[in-house]
Amino acid sequence: MTDLTGQRGLVLGIANDASIATGCAAAFRAAGAEVAVTCLNEKARRFVGPVAERLGCAPMLDCDVREAGQLEAVFAALDAQWGGLDFLLHAIAFAPRDDLHGRVADCSAAGFGMAMDVSVHSFIRCARLAEPLLRRRGGGTLLTVSFYGGERVVEHYNMMGPVKAALESVTRYLAAEMGPSGIRVHAISPGPIATRAASGIDRFDEMLERAAATVPALGLARIEDVGAAAAFLVGQGGARLNGLVLPVDGGQHVLA
Ligand code: NAD
Repeated sequence: MTDLTGQRGLVLGIANDASIATGCAAAFRAAGAEVAVTCLNEKARRFVGPVAERLGCAPMLDCDVREAGQLEAVFAALDAQWGGLDFLLHAIAFAPRDDLHGRVADCSAAGFGMAMDVSVHSFIRCARLAEPLLRRRGGGTLLTVSFYGGERVVEHYNMMGPVKAALESVTRYLAAEMGPSGIRVHAISPGPIATRAASGIDRFDEMLERAAATVPALGLARIEDVGAAAAFLVGQGGARLNGLVLPVDGGQHVLA
């Protein structure tokens, strides 16, 4: 059992009970960590608030990464309240629906740029802003969430494929750049899970059915499984690991 007693972490990306970030926050809390969370906006507050309360996560800080200054304000608040940080989970992605539902060949520059900004560059910004807080604690762990569609072509994943490929590459570069400061950087790559973001992918139900049929014995990954892997990476078991893209998919990624 991973022990994160005395550790303090930030989780970005809780939308509701079904979010991957919720599964991770629950696992961090169960392992004894203090966890701060972010909330997209006022509208999201009535869904995120009860999750944060149920899990005992505080503070809850507003953060739309597209709003100037909001991400910076999150780290300033944590610096003031905690004076340091041990880990961070970035579970944020967005792509405009029209671009997401079309061919990669047809996606617009604006849509592609927005998807890259929210889903990838925000992780770079998180790493940069977290770095001084993590260094004050002698190092720490940065986690993001990717998908197999970044590595191979997955039907209907479309534009998010290249976006996740970029996220995985960013993970490796950040791991190399920050490793010498004791900061470990990983991406967890879950199989398909029914979440609000996933419902934006065309024919996501078919993707779920295909995955379930591929890994019948181990079964589809649940948010609890992603949480357990995340807590392991943050904890002592991950002390010598850096730069991984860790599939949590029942082994689907090894099959043709
Ligand atoms: P979700 O809808 O529960 O979470 C997505 C989160 O992104 C939401 O909390 C939303 O508020 C946040 N977000 C979107 N735009 C934002 C912005 N501008 N600023 C701040 N936050 C913003 O869905 P999820 O499936 O839990 O997604 C979490 C991550 O997991 C995403 O990166 C997603 O690509 C990845 N992922 C999901 C699956 C899956 O099958 N569900 C599989 C692999 C990877």
